[in-house]
Amino acid sequence: MKLASQPLVAALYLVPLPIGNREDITLRALRVLRDADIIACEDTRTTGQLLAGYGITPQKMMSLHDHNEEERAAGIIEMIQEGKSIALCSDAGTPGISDPGFRVVRAACNAGVTIIPLPGANAALTALIASGVETDAFYFAGFPPHKKGRMTFVKRVVERDCTTILYESPHRITKLIDELAEIAGTKRNAVIARELTKSYEEFLRGTLGELQSVLKTRPPLKGEIVVILQGIQAYHQSEQTEGDFE
Ligand code: SAM
Repeated sequence: MKLASQPLVAALYLVPLPIGNREDITLRALRVLRDADIIACEDTRTTGQLLAGYGITPQKMMSLHDHNEEERAAGIIEMIQEGKSIALCSDAGTPGISDPGFRVVRAACNAGVTIIPLPGANAALTALIASGVETDAFYFAGFPPHKKGRMTFVKRVVERDCTTILYESPHRITKLIDELAEIAGTKRNAVIARELTKSYEEFLRGTLGELQSVLKTRPPLKGEIVVILQGIQAYHQSEQTEGDFE
């Protein structure tokens, strides 16, 4: 199937990029990235290299990251009002999800400019659907705070009825599993999903106690990590049976 050729409209296009495997991008995303007047992205070099791999030479790129998003938002809205199409993306995955995007989108809402979201790769949902933990209701908690408020955050996660999805760095993953076990006890189901869509993709599934044991016997985990924690309601239901993972 060839990329379509219909022109883009003046709008803010939200464009997800792969989270590892370069094949995980839609034809529509490629067309928008090829044809957008401007691509706003975190690191123009990183995104430029990714696009080169698809044979795309962007018309124009500008950097948009956590530290300049607020000040860049007004300029982006003005360009759309002047008739430009802007593709907003982050280094990887879906913009606005633990990544810049939200502030520009809110400014676009307030200014009444058109926002066109494209569906695509996201680490949280990719981990959830293969976790084996209940998917009927879930909460995305993002990254736990490093220091201040961390235990309050962990307590809230543990007390939540539904499944929780967290992002965590490999340097703090053992600490996080220990903290979750300290509050939830060792019997709650959890999953560590690592390096999704990449060659070392791995799922560690078990109770928090089992994950603690596994982490003790292995070299420190590397790469990018999503943690899925079973909600308290499903945990209490599975207590009456024999647990969920064999
Ligand atoms: N916007 C991205 C998304 O839609 O998933 C998330 C960006 S956030 C800055 C980066 C975090 O997402 C990583 O630290 C990790 O927790 C998670 N992540 C991203 N890619 C991943 C992958 N391939 N495997 C596992 N986790 C990943």
